[in-house]
Amino acid sequence: MKIGFGYDVHRFAENRSLVLGGVTIPYEYGLLGHSDADVLIHALMDSLLGACALGDIGTHFPDTDSAYKNIDSMLLLRKVAIMIKNEGYCLGNADITVVAQKPKISPYYKQIRCNIADALHTDINNINVKATTEEGLGFSGRLEGIKCYSVCLLQNSEEHHEII
Ligand SMILES: [Zn+2]
Repeated sequence: MKIGFGYDVHRFAENRSLVLGGVTIPYEYGLLGHSDADVLIHALMDSLLGACALGDIGTHFPDTDSAYKNIDSMLLLRKVAIMIKNEGYCLGNADITVVAQKPKISPYYKQIRCNIADALHTDINNINVKATTEEGLGFSGRLEGIKCYSVCLLQNSEEHHEII
């Protein structure tokens, strides 16, 4: 088994859609970024790549490459899923925490978990999404942006199949 950790931050900006976990959430601000700025998926991808010692998303999808301008981060997650598989691993589980004062994320947990489970070819019960505020403190509390943490466990695909 391998464990991975990911962390990402994006600042709020006007005239941008707020996309979290592949879900467009109605809010007065979106997140600024070269891609769709899906901070949740970025943290998740970094945890998956980290578990496999494959660096980070900046290495694989550089923001200097116009191919990734405004790209749907769910497409990048599907690419990362292939990289993990090629390394001989599959997802055990992932636990993701969104830190945002606003908006309320909980109405979208189920859809986000479905999106991620579909992209990673796993059961929805292997994906947890939760959110917290920082009680008005720090940049998230000042409504300047959103941060996200992700931890994941990967299992060796071959050993996993032997057990089954
Ligand atoms: Zn990011």
